[in-house]
Amino acid sequence: MTATKRVTRADLKPGEFLCDHCTAKCCRYFALPIDTPDSREELENIRWYLLHEDVSIFVDEGTWFLMVHTVCRKLRSDNLCGIYETRPQICRDYSTDNCEYDGDGCYDQLFESPEQMWEYIEAVYPQKKPKKKPARTELPIVS
Ligand code: SF4
Ligand code: SF4
Repeated sequence: MTATKRVTRADLKPGEFLCDHCTAKCCRYFALPIDTPDSREELENIRWYLLHEDVSIFVDEGTWFLMVHTVCRKLRSDNLCGIYETRPQICRDYSTDNCEYDGDGCYDQLFESPEQMWEYIEAVYPQKKPKKKPARTELPIVS
């Protein structure tokens, strides 16, 4: 069996479109910027996000994003848009120039599970351990 060579941007001939060789990666998630967490409590909220399925958090150039891995309802089985003429502006504005077609999925930081976030929280805001109480010494009863 021979592996099919992946079409690269450089392989494109005049009039060919990169999207025609893609599995519509950009129609399979959405990501929203979120406030940069600056306390243990705020990171705990992010851990809560990650307790939900199909959610991840990434940091890109200092901005934190909540990413939801979910396929657009209008993506067709042939990986083309089912509402191309009336697709939202954000889809119209999206360009192949910097899209994730050949991206390596690398971010400055990526959290894919609540356990990863827990480790991060413990590293950044370690919980203070309660001080041990001194052992009680029994005093002799003097009568
Ligand atoms: S814009 Fe990029 S990621 Fe989206 S379908 Fe086209 S090639 Fe794929
Ligand atoms: S509306 Fe069309 S272009 Fe936009 S995300 Fe859905 S399938 Fe993709």
